[in-house]
Amino acid sequence: MRILVFDIGGTEIKYALCDENFTLTDKKSVPTNAHEGGKRIIERVVEIAKTFDGFDRIGISTAGQVDSEKGMIVYATDSIPGYTGTQIKQLVESELGVPCAVENDVNSAALGEAHFGAAKGESNFICLTYGTGIGGAIFIDGKLFKGCGYSAGEFGHFITHANGKNCTCGGNGCYEAYASSGALVRAVIEKTGKNLNGREIFAEFDNPTIRDIIDGWIDEIVVGLKSLVYIFNPSLIVAGGGIMNEQYITDEINKRLKTQLMQSFRCIEVKKAKMGNDANLLGAAYVATKE
Ligand SMILES: [Zn+2]
Repeated sequence: MRILVFDIGGTEIKYALCDENFTLTDKKSVPTNAHEGGKRIIERVVEIAKTFDGFDRIGISTAGQVDSEKGMIVYATDSIPGYTGTQIKQLVESELGVPCAVENDVNSAALGEAHFGAAKGESNFICLTYGTGIGGAIFIDGKLFKGCGYSAGEFGHFITHANGKNCTCGGNGCYEAYASSGALVRAVIEKTGKNLNGREIFAEFDNPTIRDIIDGWIDEIVVGLKSLVYIFNPSLIVAGGGIMNEQYITDEINKRLKTQLMQSFRCIEVKKAKMGNDANLLGAAYVATKE
């Protein structure tokens, strides 16, 4: 079986061919040109697909809230205008005549890690991606738990501080307002006046002020993870996002969880996500095989 896979993000559409051993070849990307709107994005996906031949299925990972049974966008923010309501599966299948599966990008990445990466062989685990915000996914008994509106695992917006900082969701005290890499960047600006990105912050690790900010930020990460461990009792937490390439973070999270959790919940390990940018494409390929 050969699967043509796409990962539609706000800035880039990545695509590749995937064989039956889940090896990706011909990896390429084009700008999304999101301002042209959701319908045009899917037309371009179809145009790209028509330059390939010899594929049996299409798998699509995409930004936005996805009804994966209908293969449509239930809701997308204005970062891709007019994307809400787009019937991706129907449009792609009628143009290309092969089965098409569609899944949300966070879920796709989690499926990629679940079947080919850091969580291979695990049944009960959660995934969190730390970036500007925080995304997440939940696996129970080996299956992705989606919730009634395909949105379960929105860990960025569970509350860790009553009456806390304002959040982009309109609420306040949300986990991502304190524990995202964006929150770390903001904390550094507030306390030092320096506008540094994640890598630059860790380059100043020996500066005691910066070190204190990093340690306080890791405390915020741990506060949320402790609650999640008590709810799901997972064997594994997969932590993704570029900032997690700093080994210190996962080492510290593991150390703090193992001393702060109730004894019976300490059978938990936090691992870095392994598949990087390929996770979404591999997850999309995996869902396409189930189509
Ligand atoms: Zn929020």
